[in-house]
Amino acid sequence: MTDFDYQLRISKRAKYARVCVKTNRQVEVVLPLGVSTLEADKLVQQQYDWIIRALGRMQSQSPVSTNTQPESIHLPAIGQRIRIQYGCKQKRNTMLDDDVLRVRLSKADKHVPKLLHMWLKAYAKKYLPNMLAKVAKDMGSSYQSVSIRLQKTRWGSCSHKQSIALNAKLLLLPKEVLHYVLVHELAHLVHMNHSPQFWQYVAHFVHDYTKQRQALRELSLALPAWLLL
Ligand SMILES: [Zn+2]
Repeated sequence: MTDFDYQLRISKRAKYARVCVKTNRQVEVVLPLGVSTLEADKLVQQQYDWIIRALGRMQSQSPVSTNTQPESIHLPAIGQRIRIQYGCKQKRNTMLDDDVLRVRLSKADKHVPKLLHMWLKAYAKKYLPNMLAKVAKDMGSSYQSVSIRLQKTRWGSCSHKQSIALNAKLLLLPKEVLHYVLVHELAHLVHMNHSPQFWQYVAHFVHDYTKQRQALRELSLALPAWLLL
């Protein structure tokens, strides 16, 4: 099941169900009065490719601050702030030394963002699978496999084969928002949709999930520039 969240609006005037992506990158599904809300999930699945493309387009149009060579990387999910040192004389492209990430490239090098992406993905592999396993244990659920990716628009996904994919950017979220995302993906092992039953199940483990969902939405729009390239 896919994991951009969408807003549901019931409209008296709408004749057909439709989906749109608004300029703030919020996906909205409009349903005519009297149509089951399960239709919204169906519609989102049918329009999935289109939605991803629309979200991608908006991301590339959004104003990006020029600071794509950060001085530091803050990873609230694991309570770490990493300072970056550029132009280090070393064999490897990146080396983490306590809280200092030593980077071989000079700060002006245009490949810096790409290199940091690779580093973040590798670093996330050290943390996210363990965190997922722990939450799964608390929920009494089990999955087949977990992979760490660096996607533009999705925080995570759960396939019918019970493979969970997590976005390395999750490390940039506050702990409680990350926890919500992990619960959300694991809840798809039980409900492969966003039905009311799915949300009830999520609420069982994250009581204030609506608050975390909203926070996730806002944080998605506030990611640092080097991650958006
Ligand atoms: Zn979902």
